[in-house]
Amino acid sequence: MIHGLFSCLRTKAAKTAAVFTVAAVLLTSFGAAFALAAAPSITILPIDNAKFLAGQKFDFLVEVHDAASPAIAVTVNGVAADRYFGKAATAKLDGSLGTYRIDDVAFPDSGKMEVTVKAATAVGQEARTVRYEVAANNRKQAKNVILFIGDGMSLQARQMARILSKGLTEGKYNGLLEMDKMSNLAIITTSGYDSLVTDSANSASAYATGHKSVVNAMGVYADSSKNPLDDPKVENIVELVKRTRGMATGIVSTANITDATPAAMVAHTRRRSEQNFIAQTMLDAAHRPDVILGGGSRHFLPMSVPGSKRTDGRNLVDEFTQAGYSFSATKSGLLATPSAATKMLGLYHLDNMNVYIDREMLKTPEVLGGFTDQPTLMDMTKKAIDVLSRNPNGFFLMVEGASIDKQLHTLDWQRATYDTIEMDKAIGIAKQFAKQNGDTLIIVVADHAHGASITGTYHELDGKTGREAVRIYADSTWPTYADADKDGFPDDPQPDVALAVHFANHPDYYEDYHFKLKPTVPAIMANGKAVANPKTSGEFQPGNIPTVDPSEVHAADDIILTAQGPGAEYFTGIMDNTEVFFGMVRALGIDGKRSLK
Ligand SMILES: [Zn+2]
Repeated sequence: MIHGLFSCLRTKAAKTAAVFTVAAVLLTSFGAAFALAAAPSITILPIDNAKFLAGQKFDFLVEVHDAASPAIAVTVNGVAADRYFGKAATAKLDGSLGTYRIDDVAFPDSGKMEVTVKAATAVGQEARTVRYEVAANNRKQAKNVILFIGDGMSLQARQMARILSKGLTEGKYNGLLEMDKMSNLAIITTSGYDSLVTDSANSASAYATGHKSVVNAMGVYADSSKNPLDDPKVENIVELVKRTRGMATGIVSTANITDATPAAMVAHTRRRSEQNFIAQTMLDAAHRPDVILGGGSRHFLPMSVPGSKRTDGRNLVDEFTQAGYSFSATKSGLLATPSAATKMLGLYHLDNMNVYIDREMLKTPEVLGGFTDQPTLMDMTKKAIDVLSRNPNGFFLMVEGASIDKQLHTLDWQRATYDTIEMDKAIGIAKQFAKQNGDTLIIVVADHAHGASITGTYHELDGKTGREAVRIYADSTWPTYADADKDGFPDDPQPDVALAVHFANHPDYYEDYHFKLKPTVPAIMANGKAVANPKTSGEFQPGNIPTVDPSEVHAADDIILTAQGPGAEYFTGIMDNTEVFFGMVRALGIDGKRSLK
């Protein structure tokens, strides 16, 4: 949540700075012509090298930034674009911004597309060409797809969960996680089209649409207007499977259900912070999920309710109920969902749900803030599958372990790891369903990494403390996490010998190498700068990222994907994040040209 706000501010500032610097350098060293070439005045959206599913809907937009006339000529494979798409274009000149737009179009056939734009600009006649690939529709292999997204779940985050949950004996793991035991594995690259490091909106959008986007955006390409709701859209998987096959769809998360990852499965906006808009857009028939479970009732309840973040009197819980949804606000309510229900809304916290350690183990009243009956991710996943699998046309379900990311942002790798284990157990439930039903593709992936790395182990058994007690190489004797009740979660997150985890990209903070009984933040903002949280103690760690951000930040490191079931063979080698979408629609054999209505 906080990091979304800061990354938004950071991106805007960085972009402005970068533009001025680059322009200045180019103008002084190479002259004006080169500077203009480096920043083409014609923007074509979707961008160069975009890939589509045949029949997948999108909005087509050309912007000419120093246009001299409203006349913009656009061809698709040599045919005038309006004739090619069979729809009239809207062309406008607003000051020096010329636009050419055709909404809700598609490429009907697979193959290579070449789009050329010609326009008169301040420097004369300019032209630009982009190339697209359109993927063919495929034979159906899977009836259902379940996509697990461990937010921020780097390879190392997965390994921390394996070490804590399973342990090692003489160097060999005593067991593997559910997400480890899958037939296929691929390395996924995560960048958006604007920057090396992605956020969760942008990366989840790549999974949902097959198209890259920019930081803070989902289901859209970013145009130059300020309006966060007018950017050209691309059809997402929830819309596709509903439109073409009438499949059931569901989103489950431990975060606000309007937070970036679940929202990107459904919504279209340039700004992920528009969570009230995202909540109400979930009611739109085109992408209304049948199952919506998570936190964040503050965006659904009218402003008159204490804790609500809405700025109007709409009660979306009532609106969903009127649309036939059974609603629950507690775990008991979820478990009591009528067995015939086919639509379900569950909101178990005003804000993000509490993390596993706080919700299931410590149960500190002030941390839970009155939400003492929240379901686990396993409970939500099980119920979601029960309800969605009643649709004979199959289902698409996205399940997010959201707080892996949120806890790594606060350098709390222990809380992050328990939430990774929790997601792994939810994956086990999905695998059990797939075992009984056979026709389900299960994908487990992160959306981006964090710079957390396992240095060795940590203990104070010989009286050493702090960095001197970090055990490296031969001193890194086996950690002693115990799991007496065999539930997969270590009984104590702070055993005699614990893991030693260090972070690559962090603000100033104090490191004490101990699990914290209450969630805490490593740094706070003071006079506009991130400084180490004065309420914490330990060895001072000078930050190595700009002082505009008080949290640990995302890493650009590649992540891994594991998959099993029909269609899983698609996932192999090194793949772009947009390929997750193509792997899913390929497995389902979605024909983008088909429409039920
Ligand atoms: Zn994050």
